Amino acid sequence: MAVRLNDDASLLQIVAVGNPVLRRPAEPVDPAVIVTSDFQRLIDQMRATMVAAPGVGLAAPQVGLGIRLAVIEDAPERWVDLDPRTLAERERSELAFTVLVNPVVERVAEAGVVTFYEGCLSVPGYAGAVERARTVRLSALGADGEPFSAIYTGWPARIVQHEVDHLNGDIYVDRVAIRSLSTVENLANRRGRPIAELAEELGFTLSRDQAGPG
Ligand code: ZN
Repeated sequence: MAVRLNDDASLLQIVAVGNPVLRRPAEPVDPAVIVTSDFQRLIDQMRATMVAAPGVGLAAPQVGLGIRLAVIEDAPERWVDLDPRTLAERERSELAFTVLVNPVVERVAEAGVVTFYEGCLSVPGYAGAVERARTVRLSALGADGEPFSAIYTGWPARIVQHEVDHLNGDIYVDRVAIRSLSTVENLANRRGRPIAELAEELGFTLSRDQAGPG
């Protein structure tokens, strides 16, 4: 597979917005190739690249490959700078390393929608608030080539939706509440503040289902 490597040979180069590969719907993966050593090596490289970035998800188009493959992982070590209230507000919970091949996501409408900030390794320096389904049902093939399905709620559901969007040629900025757009630095300066306060300050709207003071 023709992927470009960073200086560290185990890491892949992440492409930024403006690269057409991020805008093309990715091609399905032939399930038979999943167990091949080339594909397994690609999975390992994507995981290492995601962790090093650091990020909680990485889709193949982000490393220049137009195939329906993504990796996700959100470990508590990543949350050391976040206060318990922020974690609870976002329903951030541990997401074990998972490989998604040819994933299909369905929104669970009854669970409602929520708006929070997210960023993207392919849009460095910025973050914005995006309305997402609070709960999704995912079906995919795993690293072993076997089908699995799972239900994700809260932050893991956001991660899954963000990555599957990448496979459809969509980037979070397509869905962002544009007035929420913020540099990562400005967002970090507001760390610990309820999303409702940020929405009021910047003049963007939260999801209808996001009742309460934030
Ligand atoms: Zn992204």
